[in-house]
Amino acid sequence: MAVYIDRLEDLMGELTHNEFFTRRFLEEVARLPKIDGKFIVSGLDETIFCRNELKQNEPLLKENPEEAINRLIKFQLGIPYIIAKYYQWKQAPKDIISLLSPNNSVFLTTGFEDIQKAKLDALWISHIPLVVHKEEKDKILSTIQYILYQIKYIPTEIVVYDDKPRFFLEYKELIEWIFWCTLTVMQVEMDGNNGYKKIEEI
Ligand SMILES: [Mg+2]
Repeated sequence: MAVYIDRLEDLMGELTHNEFFTRRFLEEVARLPKIDGKFIVSGLDETIFCRNELKQNEPLLKENPEEAINRLIKFQLGIPYIIAKYYQWKQAPKDIISLLSPNNSVFLTTGFEDIQKAKLDALWISHIPLVVHKEEKDKILSTIQYILYQIKYIPTEIVVYDDKPRFFLEYKELIEWIFWCTLTVMQVEMDGNNGYKKIEEI
């Protein structure tokens, strides 16, 4: 037991710079009901809706690095223009969306909250909760906090759908040990917005 706590505290220290979160989280897990079922964590860009068309058709986005896309949309191109042109009246493939409901899922995404919210509205999926982060790695702590403080029950399985699920693999042990549940990581590759090239467990 001591070894297990030490290991959890090391992993938590990497994520939060405060290993004492571990004990607080474990206490919360002990207090909450365990409910038989899946909780789904899904990415948004390149997981639910592909940005290829947008990236290929906007010269400013084509000539700048990938990391600049969100800033260019927000401060140069304008959110209303981008949403109207590339999101409004568009269909996102249903494979993953059809699995999501407000009580068993959350979109965890990076970027700016106003852009990501506008995408969900345009695609008619804003009934699914959304949490926006600065970096991909933040999704790990956010998953833990969302379950403990928003859904307030412990699922028997957490399923992640993402095009870049690297950190979920890296911190799989932490999530599984905190919740005493299974974490299933699904790597997603979209085929434009026609569907998926793959959705497979890794
Ligand atoms: Mg993504």
